[in-house]
Order: sequence, then C-alpha cells, then structure tokens
Amino acid sequence: MPLILRLALPSPLRRLFDYLPPKGAVEEQLRPGVRLRVPFGRREVVGVLIEVAQETEVPPDKLRKALQLLDERPPLPSALFELCQWSAQYYQHSLGDTLSWALPALLRQGEPAERRLQRFWIAQPDARPEDPRLARAPRQREALKTLRQHPHGVLHELLGQLGLVKDSLDLLQAKGLVKVETRYHQPTRHQGSWLAQAELPLNGEQRLAYEAVRAGSGFHCYLLEGVTGSGKTEVYLQLIRATLEAGRQALLLIPEINLGPQTLGRFEQRFNARIALLHSALTDRERMDIWLAARDGELDIVVGTRSALFTPLKHPGLIIVDEEHDASYKQQEGLRYHARDLAVVRARFENLPVVLGSATPSLESLHNADQGRYAHLRLSLRAGGAQPPRFERLDVRSRPLDSGLSQPLLKAMGATLERGQQVLVFLNRRGFAPTLLCHDCGWLAQCPRCDARMTYHRGSGELRCHHCDHRQAPPRHCPSCGKLDLRPVGAGTERAEERLQLLFPDIPVLRIDRDTTARKDALGKLLRTIHSGVPCILVGTQMLAKGHHFPKVTLVAVLDADSGLFSADFRASERMAQQIVQVAGRAGRAEEPGQVLIQTHLADHPLMVQLAEEGYPAFARQALQERRAAGLPPFAYLALLRADAHRQDQVENFLEAAYHVAEGLAVNLALPQVELLGPVPAPMERRAGRHRAQLLLQSSSRAPLHRLLGIWVVQLESLPEARQVRWSLDVDPIDLF
Ligand code: ADP
Ligand code: ZN
Ligand code: ZN
Repeated sequence: MPLILRLALPSPLRRLFDYLPPKGAVEEQLRPGVRLRVPFGRREVVGVLIEVAQETEVPPDKLRKALQLLDERPPLPSALFELCQWSAQYYQHSLGDTLSWALPALLRQGEPAERRLQRFWIAQPDARPEDPRLARAPRQREALKTLRQHPHGVLHELLGQLGLVKDSLDLLQAKGLVKVETRYHQPTRHQGSWLAQAELPLNGEQRLAYEAVRAGSGFHCYLLEGVTGSGKTEVYLQLIRATLEAGRQALLLIPEINLGPQTLGRFEQRFNARIALLHSALTDRERMDIWLAARDGELDIVVGTRSALFTPLKHPGLIIVDEEHDASYKQQEGLRYHARDLAVVRARFENLPVVLGSATPSLESLHNADQGRYAHLRLSLRAGGAQPPRFERLDVRSRPLDSGLSQPLLKAMGATLERGQQVLVFLNRRGFAPTLLCHDCGWLAQCPRCDARMTYHRGSGELRCHHCDHRQAPPRHCPSCGKLDLRPVGAGTERAEERLQLLFPDIPVLRIDRDTTARKDALGKLLRTIHSGVPCILVGTQMLAKGHHFPKVTLVAVLDADSGLFSADFRASERMAQQIVQVAGRAGRAEEPGQVLIQTHLADHPLMVQLAEEGYPAFARQALQERRAAGLPPFAYLALLRADAHRQDQVENFLEAAYHVAEGLAVNLALPQVELLGPVPAPMERRAGRHRAQLLLQSSSRAPLHRLLGIWVVQLESLPEARQVRWSLDVDPIDLF
C-alpha cells in the first residue's frame, strides 16, 4: 500500500490535495510541515505536507507523484503551523493560501530555508601593517589597517563604504595576510547588560501597569489604555527589557505608518539587542533572513506591521500590539485576518502575555476588558506633566464657510500663529474638491467606472477617482448642458492649503497627505520644517493623526467631523472619535496646553457631546451602549459574503443561491441564531466597472455562526453560479463597504 501525501497548495479551494511521495523519499522524511514541489494542472507549485494517509479517494490513474521533497525538517515551527491552521479555519480560508500569507515569499517559491551565506573579508590574526612586504604598498597597508579594526570581518557588500578596494584585498590575500570567510551574517550578539541607556523611573500608573503584566505567568491579555503621551512606549520598553533578561524574545506590532524607523531608533538607543524591523521596502531575501533568524533565536526583538505577526520565535516571551485600534491590522484581501485578534490567539497558543496598547481602544477590546477577558490597565496622565488638550465644539450651523473654514476658527488660528505657535488643520479628504459641479444643470463629475464622484486635483489638473484610480482631464464645458460654469464644490486638503496660504501670506502652509508625501523623503522634509519650530500651519489627512510628536502645535482644528456621525457604516463614529482624539494628541505635548476646535453641524449629537466634554472613555461607553441596543458588534458576530462581476444578474444569481444554501443549513443544523441580511447591493454598487453586492450573516453568538460558515463556504465553492463571479468571505469584517 503506497503512502498518500495530503498537501495544502496555494489554491483558493478549501481542501487538501493528495499525491504520491516523490521518487527516493523515505517515510521518516515525510513529516507534516515539510514542503514539496508538485505538479498542479499544467504548473508546478510548492505545497506543504499536512498529513500522511493510507488511502485516497483520488482514482489511481489520476493520482500524481510529487516531484521533489524540499526540506529535511519543517521550516515552520509547530506553534506557527498551528496558528496558520487555526486562522484558516477561523477565517474560512484555504489552508494552502493561508500558509502563503504566513510564509516568506522565497519559501513559497521553493527556495531552501537557509539564511544567506555571505562573504566576509578578515585580516589574519598575525598580519601587521608593518609587514616588510607592504613597505612599498601604501594602499594595501591602509586596507589592512582598516580591516584590523573589524575583528569579525567586513561584509563584502560594505567594502566600498569603508573605502576598501577589492584589488588591494586580493593582493593582501595572495600574501596570506587577509582571508575570505563565507558564513551567515550574524548580528552582533549581546554582551553584558541589555540596557544601553538608563531607564526612566516609571510614574505610579506606569509602575502599576508594568507590575501587573510582570506578575502574570503564561497567557494573559492586557489592554493598556493610555492617553497620548502618557508613556505607553516606556512601559513597552521596560516590559521588553524584562523579557530579554528572562532569555526570551519580544514581538512588537505597529500600524502601517511611517513611524517604523522612529520606533526602531528608540529601541536601538535603549537596548544592546539584536533588533529587526520588518517593513515593506525589504527585499524577499532580507525578509526571509529576518524570519529565519527570529525562528532560530538569533534576534531578540522583532518590530513590524501586520504580517510580522507570523514571524516565528524560538523563545517567545511577549507580544505587544501598539495602537491596537488601528484599522491597518485588518487585512482586506486574501486571508482577511485581524493581526490584533490573531496576536491574542498566538499568545494563547504559546502561553505568553500580550499587551494591546492605545489611547483610543477599539470597542471590541473595551468590551473584552468589561467582560473580564482582558485586564484593563490605565495611564490617565501625560508623562512629564504636559496638560491634556481642551476640546471645544464649534457650531457652524448657518455660519458661512470659506473653503471649509469658519470665521471663529480663522480667528483662533491667527491668534495662535501670532503667539509664535503652530496650527494643525485636520481634514481627512485629499485633493482640491470632492467633486466638480455644473452650476447650470447640476451635472456632477462621476467616475465612469464606479458609483462615485471624482475628486478634483488642481495641482495635477485632473479629475481622479479615489476608488479605482481612473484619471481624466476636467471637461471645459459641461458634458450635459454645454455651459461653461463648472465649479469645484466642497474642500479637500489642497483647497484648504490654497485658501490658508492666501489668508496667511507670511506663514508657511504645509500640506501633508498621500499626494505631497509620495516622493521619497518628502515627508521627512516637511517634518523637519515643523520640528524647526517656526510658526506654520499644517494641513493634512489622517497621516497627521498617527504617532508624530509636534510639541509646537497648540491648536488643532478638525474641519469635518460630521461625516462620521451620519455614515451608513456603524463603525464610522468610532473611527471619527479615534481620529479626533489621536490628532488632538499631537498638540501641546510640552509646556503649552493644546486646544482642539471641532467644526460641526451636529454640535448637540450625544456622541459629539460625550467626546468633547468627557473624552474618549465616556464616548466609548456611550457608543458601546448604542451597539448593544442595536445588536451590533461587539455584541453580535458578523460575516460578510461579497461578490462582484461584470454583469449585475451574475452577482444577484450567486448571492441568491448562496442565500438559499445558508437558509437551508440554518434550518437543518438548527441554528436559528444566524440571521441572513440581504443580499443587497454594496454601498458602492459599481466599482472599477464591476457590479458588487453582498450578503451579511449576523449571529448573537459566535459558535453557531462559525458552524454554519464552515459548511457553507465549501458548498459555495461548488455552486455553478460561483463560476461567474469573484467572491470572498470576510469574517469579523470591519468595513462593510
Ligand atoms: P506614548 O507612547 O503613551 O505616547 P511615550 O512613551 O512616547 O508615550 O512618552 C511620551 C513622552 O514622555 C516621551 O518623551 C517620554 O520620554 C516621556 N516619558 C515617558 N515616561 C516617562 C517617565 N516615567 N518619566 C518622565 N518622562 C517620561
Ligand atoms: Zn451643465
Ligand atoms: Zn472609479
């Protein structure tokens, strides 16, 4: 009886694939987790062995042989392997594709799971610059001197940076004074104390938080709610120090922002430790080297965005998720995982403490703390004694707005600048104007491919769709009535910048959004101007809300808070509050207290009142009550089936069929808790030329929903209607659009 190998392959299908062992493979080598190269259709792909079986349902003439065994031992440690299996099941995603998201690209492509060997140039121990053979060779003498300063050798790629020329080194090597070693690039190993810099003495609240985490043993989740500037990072640093002292590694997740290097800098100043930053600019090779080094215990601290969650650690000791409320932790394609949620799962599997930190915790995490699942730790004071900012609602009902700016706001700005301070204007809409309007007939510039308006960008002189990136020149005449009176309506950052520059001609106005920071170091340049401390106005999108410290900013103006209060998306108000509080947190970090002016047409809205008068915690209480009353997350569990296709009837047919299958399952499995809402057209019905619709599943408890989903998705795969559409299932969606 031949052995049957059951493999996970990079395919969207939620099943495993059976193969015969490759020629020459011995049974002992065929351990779950090893990779094999196999034929798949007309291609070759790399799969991961899940189990070895005795039987298969594949008819013998269809059963193919694997081509090659790629590993002697499984490259993925078992804890991570289990996490992938758990994730695939929870997010109802194919295991093969889940592994593809978790593994470094080179492993998916079948490269050996080995770190890159590198060449190092090293001076022989007894080689001396005074060697008589070098008397007439000044360049070789200098090269030898330089090399002798690097007892572990100089990496071949770095020769140029040290002014070393390969010709001289070759001559030295020929004389037996220098040798070349090929070995792994070892980051310098820690010696002596882990601390390169003294720690700040923790204040009372910080100490309580630190000690609470230290006192626990094994898995526990801590929600560290600390106002901006309260010293959360200092608590992380000291917890990590304790982790290193215990001989363990720490993993820190940060949101997808430009703060990676800044965070890394702070960690490198603090620690004598091997620290790696996983960021999007790494090559596949660099990424894999970090992955392997972390797995083999040769890195002490790993810092990275969402996908760094899947970095294996040999001696894991602590996981921290900074800014845990940030939406970038949720992946919106393929495996739609939430890295914060998976961090908690991982910590449970590996029996570690996990700390979720934020000034504006997600309602999900607050609810978990209320339920006693997470320990709630609070830092309510700004470290270093800075005052918290004051919030004021600026009722702009029936006040004329000048490019989105009200008179009282402009006055406050003028006064702040006169005192030599800086102003931050927050407007989460880039471009010049949200659309172009014909004043004669009411025509609006619609994207031809989406149910959305196109944004007018004056700088580049084009209309742009922010959903599909369609671009075109603005028409000169109205395409509908032919008149010439086309006007931009509403204000984006570009217009606010232009208007403010006119109103404050002597003051630099710096716009910070995706358009002005696209070029390399453009953001760095803007930040340098801000940090020079000159009075200036910053105009920007949510890019400004994250992490940066602007000590000279004492006035924060929020131009458009209202969209968050009447959006169809039930999470919009939470997001709006988080953005306002985060952007407010940039202000008045030093001696000067900050002032936050919120322009609103909904000044009496209860959530707006709570936020402005009592702050985020009160807002969150109120918002949680509303969610409970409406039966929405975190008091209910959601899964969203999305579909799109060229033709509307294709989408409708698929979702109707999916509805009937789900309805049948709910009856047959006796799962009345699961409600089906829809199918309905997506809020943006057409996008990039495709018709979109969705079906929402909602349940008061998680288990019944997941029971139904597991069977449902497999049946969806084989629906004939599924072949006409693109579809995906999003478990715990955070965006219903
Ligand atoms: P957060 O991460 O909560 O925004 P940080 O850890 O960045 O806060 O701290 C804000 C500022 O306060 C930093 O400049 C930091 O050096 C300082 N700080 C933090 N903790 C202390 C402390 N215990 N004593 C004095 N200063 C502190
Ligand atoms: Zn017109
Ligand atoms: Zn579009």
